[in-house]
Amino acid sequence: MTLQAERVDEVVAALRTVLADDQILTSKTDRFNRARVPAPFPVHRWAERVPDLAVLPTSTEQVAGVLRIANDLRIPVVPRDGGTGLTDGAVPLHGGILLDVKRMNRIKELDLDNRTVTVGTGINMLKLNEELARHGLFYPDDPASYPCSLVGGRIGTSGWSLIGSRYGHTRDLVLSFDHVLPTGEVLHVGDGIGHKISKSSSGYQLKHLFMGHQGTLGVATEATLKLYPKPEAELSPFWAFDDYDDAYRCVGALARAGVATFAGAVLFDEWKVAYLRRDDEAYIPQPGDVRALVCAVMYGYEDEVRPAGRRLFRIAKEHGARYLGDEISEGDWAARHDRYATPLHGRTKDGQVVPMSWHCEDAAVNYTNLPSLSRAWHEIVAGLRRQTDVFDDWGMFAYTSADTGVDYLTEIDVGIWEQQLDDRAWELWVRAKRDIAAVALAHQGSISACHGSCRAGEVDLVPDELGRGFDVMLDLKRTLDPHNIMNPGKYLLDRAYETGERP
Ligand SMILES: Cc1cc2nc3c(=O)[nH]c(=O)nc-3n(C[C@H](O)[C@H](O)[C@H](O)COP(=O)(O)OP(=O)(O)OC[C@H]3O[C@@H](n4cnc5c(N)ncnc54)[C@H](O)[C@@H]3O)c2cc1C
Repeated sequence: MTLQAERVDEVVAALRTVLADDQILTSKTDRFNRARVPAPFPVHRWAERVPDLAVLPTSTEQVAGVLRIANDLRIPVVPRDGGTGLTDGAVPLHGGILLDVKRMNRIKELDLDNRTVTVGTGINMLKLNEELARHGLFYPDDPASYPCSLVGGRIGTSGWSLIGSRYGHTRDLVLSFDHVLPTGEVLHVGDGIGHKISKSSSGYQLKHLFMGHQGTLGVATEATLKLYPKPEAELSPFWAFDDYDDAYRCVGALARAGVATFAGAVLFDEWKVAYLRRDDEAYIPQPGDVRALVCAVMYGYEDEVRPAGRRLFRIAKEHGARYLGDEISEGDWAARHDRYATPLHGRTKDGQVVPMSWHCEDAAVNYTNLPSLSRAWHEIVAGLRRQTDVFDDWGMFAYTSADTGVDYLTEIDVGIWEQQLDDRAWELWVRAKRDIAAVALAHQGSISACHGSCRAGEVDLVPDELGRGFDVMLDLKRTLDPHNIMNPGKYLLDRAYETGERP
């Protein structure tokens, strides 16, 4: 909390001109509940990240009204959807108003002929797909956080989908949206002036500018999404390998095969298999000699998925894969949304079981750089473990991002004993995050394929990754948000307001 009580009263009085009383929340519970995100943070410092008040608007007009008031009064505003982001995007660093989008969760229009749906950005993909299923349709944005992240957060992070190799990611699936600028002005971004155009060459491609900005450029309020027929068939074979190298060669061959129904492939390294076997509640027992795994996923009609599956099975066999059977394959793929959402435990150096929270560092990297990046990341986490019992290495996944196998979202999962995360351990972690990001850049990758890169540690390297592009970000931020009210403190964007010449 950063505002004086009288200032909070002034803001609440102003907000009452656009919101009803029950849309303005000031109690400690309401504020603390909206400060928490899944990425571990020292427990003794949680109070640093609490908003002064929260609002629950129900329309674009109300969001515009809130931002106009905040802009006039120079009060920070942080948009929050599901609050599942892993780079602290929805965490208020300077107090102010937390704008919770969850009540804007209605389906506004279902256009069966043009295959689109228009929704409030507070809607959850699980709920949306339950409704769409009645029409034989689905919206294929499928993150592991599918049951708990919302459309607005997907836009705010420019999310990554597990089945994106077939259907694309959030940026491809959101056709257009209403966006409220920090000054309270409303614009519609997308291709063309209509809401349902998928390709236009007219002017700047503003849709992409207003995605992945982590709430620093305004609030997406209503979005029009692309729809697909609900797939008749899903095939998700899991194959076992004696070592990582064979699994790596196999995943590359599968991804490069150009099979149209191929929706993605996942490589589990030795650390990941060992962790799942040791500590994962959802683990379905696999033979003890399994050291690395590959899963490939296909979606489509029965009569295209089955023959395509035969081709992928042939490729896997040529690379020494052993099929693990239908139960493991179907069960493990079905667990993709649950794996890290439940209470978890990990191990200290001497094998003691302790409660741990999950954290995930992600990067985008080319296929050829995966093995070397993986070795370097495991070494960083091993270095942490040599110094403290707070961290555990839960292994790595590498997922295809595109349909050609060019680049992978690769993640290292780290168990963190959050209750023991004191200031020293937090400093070690921030340094390790910086090192993890540096390794991604040294491998010609991007710091984040998925979550964004504005958390302590990684954020320091964003100017290195973007080069001159970072200066353009600063210029855009200053122009669109003259008083730095939108999510201040994120992405080093406060530099846009420092006086004097930038170097
Ligand atoms: C178990 C688990 C698994 C995950 N798996 C994946 C995965 O597979 N793929 C993936 O991409 N991510 C994944 N994530 C991360 C997270 O779910 C995504 O980043 C997701 O897109 C965040 O959505 P949210 O609704 O929770 O957004 P929030 O966390 O509420 O917000 C995320 C960011 O967007 C901004 N924002 C929120 N709403 C708006 C809006 N309406 N307009 C503008 N900005 C806004 C916020 O200020 C914040 O900076 C996972 C997280 C967890 C906990």
